[in-house]
Amino acid sequence: MPELKPESIADFFRKKSPSLRCPVCAEDSWSYNDDSAPDSTIITDIPTSQDRSGALVAGNSTVPIVLIVCDNCGFIRLHSLMMLNKMISGG
Ligand SMILES: [Zn+2]
Repeated sequence: MPELKPESIADFFRKKSPSLRCPVCAEDSWSYNDDSAPDSTIITDIPTSQDRSGALVAGNSTVPIVLIVCDNCGFIRLHSLMMLNKMISGG
């Protein structure tokens, strides 16, 4: 899976939704990285409750997500890493 840089993600959302505002505080300033690692996108895994057969199974697998944080109030947006990779990198 190609690596997504914070600036690539920020550019994508500026084009996709130029006036995107935080639903909590209405500011439009978002962080696409961690201050301690400015070149790295904040990525984590969240557990899913569905296995490949479609059965609901607790803790069976995870989905990688990108965290985007409001600079003003800390509200966190979650986006699918796989979907962003497809739309940004074509991968
Ligand atoms: Zn906010």
